[in-house]
Amino acid sequence: MRVGLDVGGTKTAAIAVDESGQIRGRVRLATGWGGDAVIQTIIAAVRSLGPEAGIGLDAISSVGIGIPGQVDVRTGRVEHAVNLGVASLELAAAVEPALGVRVRVENDVKAAALGAYELHGGSGSVAYLNLGTGIAAGVVDGGVLSRGTRGTAGEVGHVSVDPNGPLCRCGQHGCIEAFAGGGSIEARWGRPGALPVRDVFDAADAGDPRAIELRAGLAYGVAAGVRVLVLTTDVDSVVLGGGVSALGARLLDDVRAELAASAAASPFLRSLALEERVELLPAGSPAAALGAALIGAARDPEEALAHG
Ligand SMILES: [Zn+2]
Repeated sequence: MRVGLDVGGTKTAAIAVDESGQIRGRVRLATGWGGDAVIQTIIAAVRSLGPEAGIGLDAISSVGIGIPGQVDVRTGRVEHAVNLGVASLELAAAVEPALGVRVRVENDVKAAALGAYELHGGSGSVAYLNLGTGIAAGVVDGGVLSRGTRGTAGEVGHVSVDPNGPLCRCGQHGCIEAFAGGGSIEARWGRPGALPVRDVFDAADAGDPRAIELRAGLAYGVAAGVRVLVLTTDVDSVVLGGGVSALGARLLDDVRAELAASAAASPFLRSLALEERVELLPAGSPAAALGAALIGAARDPEEALAHG
């Protein structure tokens, strides 16, 4: 049994995957704040697979962890996981002794890209565009995850697509993330609410001019991300996931309309069939945890083959 974890800012999900790739157990726990609490959350999530799903620790052959921040996949070290209160953490070394199995660690979006590829059928090439507080992507081609020399491959959120656009937290103007990141939209909307991006969509439907502007910016940013990914990687599909993708067809329709508008103005873009290549990760898919389980089971930490 291969265990994969998706450590998020509020929740940590753990799944157990059997030899045939079937998910045999799932648990969710609240994520603690800070390095020690994150370690304890991960250990508790794996251990609770036993009572929740009848999977004993002795049945677990490997553990993979998807976590926000910069990850050194060779050492399992995590840095700059600001949403978890972690500046620097030797995560694999801290968790392995408690669980008694090998632990591998990967950035959560890269893990989700591998999971999305597997959920997409496990063949061809897929770019996963994560629409959360921030925006980042992962690319998987033939089962191999692209990392780059410093793990920066896929950081398309900080491609500037308008020098006069909104200021990004990275210091540039008009980044894809400044237009379409949930955090940026929430800050620019500036009104209280548990689901600010959904509130913006609802207010736009009701005719609020500021909401209409922000909603159009979201589609503009996501469409730009899709274009950048296809133009740089020529993947079969761009799969949209992350918290903002829970808007479902309301979001996808806007993005396809934006792509159609750019195609109408450019025979070149029209030839790329961008509208047909973009799709949504099915709601509730545990892409990051599934990808983490595959990474945990890989023989070489830099291999990360699907079906591994
Ligand atoms: Zn930026």
